[in-house]
Amino acid sequence: MKRYRAIFFDWDGTAVISRSAPADAVAAAMAPLLTKGIYLFIISGTTYPNIAGGQLERYFPPAQLRYLFLGLARGSHNLGFDQNGRPTHTFDPQVSKDILLRIHQTAFDVHQELLRDYDYPTDIIFDRPNYVKVDLMPGNDRDANLFLSGDELGAVKRALARHGYHAGLAGLTELALNCGARHGLAVRPTCDAKYLEIGVLNKADNVDAFMERVLAPAGIAAEECCFWGDEFLELDCGLNGSDSFMHTPLTQGADFFDVGTVAGERPTHLTHLGGSVETFLRFLKAQAAL
Ligand SMILES: [Mg+2]
Repeated sequence: MKRYRAIFFDWDGTAVISRSAPADAVAAAMAPLLTKGIYLFIISGTTYPNIAGGQLERYFPPAQLRYLFLGLARGSHNLGFDQNGRPTHTFDPQVSKDILLRIHQTAFDVHQELLRDYDYPTDIIFDRPNYVKVDLMPGNDRDANLFLSGDELGAVKRALARHGYHAGLAGLTELALNCGARHGLAVRPTCDAKYLEIGVLNKADNVDAFMERVLAPAGIAAEECCFWGDEFLELDCGLNGSDSFMHTPLTQGADFFDVGTVAGERPTHLTHLGGSVETFLRFLKAQAAL
């Protein structure tokens, strides 16, 4: 097995099975790698309070936390830890209030167009940093499992079709692009079936920031890195899941692994292992043993 100097990984569905699941198992697998000076980057769409109940730093002493970083909220937050082991923001991209307001307008336009032309109901979650979530299945609660599962993809496509909307998820991302352009924004929408997320950043901004600001100064190349997630799947024609955005011009020399369990087309640059969290934890333990 190849020995990596940096491991990037998604959280929900990759490192933990659900947001309410304890982080003990993954933290135990991470600790020996951090001790060896292997960089670990958690790249998640969520915010710090949703990672291990906002207490992730409690699992590791400051010496280990030196090598732990979090890229969160779709490119909005890049966190490291200070000498005392407290999480600290490092090089967050700045999104102005004006741009944020235009992102909100864009989501509202998407909502209005679907309601006006198709009688299709959506809900909007506005309180996310630098992006909004358009809930495409407001009546369908995921409970604690905040990632693509089961036949959600089929369910949302069928629901759209019942309302006479046949362009699928690719059509919705196109709609978001058009609505964004109306407000002078080049939005970068993503969709995980339940949510259409609209913002100007995504996971590419997190991983590129860490490649440039942490790994390049440490002399670590993309070829010494690997990336893990559970949502690389092609959701619709030309529309890949949120983890696929970790594949950028800066990271393309790295190895990519998918532990997702939903069947379907995946990008050709990655290895699909399946097996969810168990597969990823087994990999971390094997790396620590090298
Ligand atoms: Mg995930």
